[in-house]
Amino acid sequence: MSLLVTGTIGIDTLHAPTGEAIGVLGGSCAYFAAAASQLTSVRVVGAVGGDWPEAHEKQFRAFPNVCLEGLERRPGSQTFAWGGRYFDNMNRRETLFTRLGVLEEAPPAVPASYLDSKVLFLANTHPLVQLDLLRRFPNKPLAVCDTMDLWINIARPELMNLLGEVDGVIMNDEEAMQLTDCRNVVSAGREVLKNGPRHFVVVKKGEHGAILVHRDGVASIPAFPADLSQVIDPTGAGDTFAGGFMAHIARAGKHDFETLRHAMAWGTVLASFTIESFGLDRLSRLNAGQIDDRYRAFRAMTAFDARS
Ligand code: AMP
Repeated sequence: MSLLVTGTIGIDTLHAPTGEAIGVLGGSCAYFAAAASQLTSVRVVGAVGGDWPEAHEKQFRAFPNVCLEGLERRPGSQTFAWGGRYFDNMNRRETLFTRLGVLEEAPPAVPASYLDSKVLFLANTHPLVQLDLLRRFPNKPLAVCDTMDLWINIARPELMNLLGEVDGVIMNDEEAMQLTDCRNVVSAGREVLKNGPRHFVVVKKGEHGAILVHRDGVASIPAFPADLSQVIDPTGAGDTFAGGFMAHIARAGKHDFETLRHAMAWGTVLASFTIESFGLDRLSRLNAGQIDDRYRAFRAMTAFDARS
């Protein structure tokens, strides 16, 4: 089933104990598309300004299976830009700056050739942009969204409207707790589900994995174990998880509880590569054999016998 994503295409500046990367390709949409394209084809809807480096376009175009027909270039505008700094254990980070740029303008147009898309992912961006995209698909494809602390803080009513119109939401533990005031991730997931998405909530817990809270049950999955020396830059791990998760749903053509459990495994495996290098570097160098090997290793380390 055809998969479409909208979100930010950003110029990222990253500081970590492992080094820094200044002005690299990033953004929720870029990470998502780069990850999803490892498993299926993906259509991009997004906007960049006149300052978008040619090298970024070249790097983005080099991912096979990414369609950029819906990428709008606005010469008089500024590209979304974000800077972050990681603390010593690489689990926590602070945002240094967010320049909204094109996000403060009209949402990007959806090409007519994308209107038959069957699965939509509304990656992190202003909830009004996410809602705008959703409403351009009156035939109601499967729609899943992400969100972030910034939008919970400055656009909560719009976000709540959005949650009431999607099938699923993926958010991290801090965001789920911030949104619901619950101090437990399962309770927070249930609370989000009560007031919002039709089918499910995935709560990501960084190095501790993710939980699926679905109307048919609850499932939990660990992260792929990595020691500190393997964690170079966690930026985009969440968007990469979402890319693998949604790509699996799109290629499976269904979104029942079991399919979503497997989708979480694919998301986890892809995210484990992203953190191994700065920006999109590791995803740019990834191949199907490496992904399959890691999926098999992950499966072996998480499987249980029926009884023993
Ligand atoms: P993650 O590490 O998965 O949270 O994603 C980090 C990516 O999200 C970076 O590449 C940023 O450019 C992008 N980003 C940061 N803040 C926002 C925001 N408020 N809305 C959308 N994308 C953002």
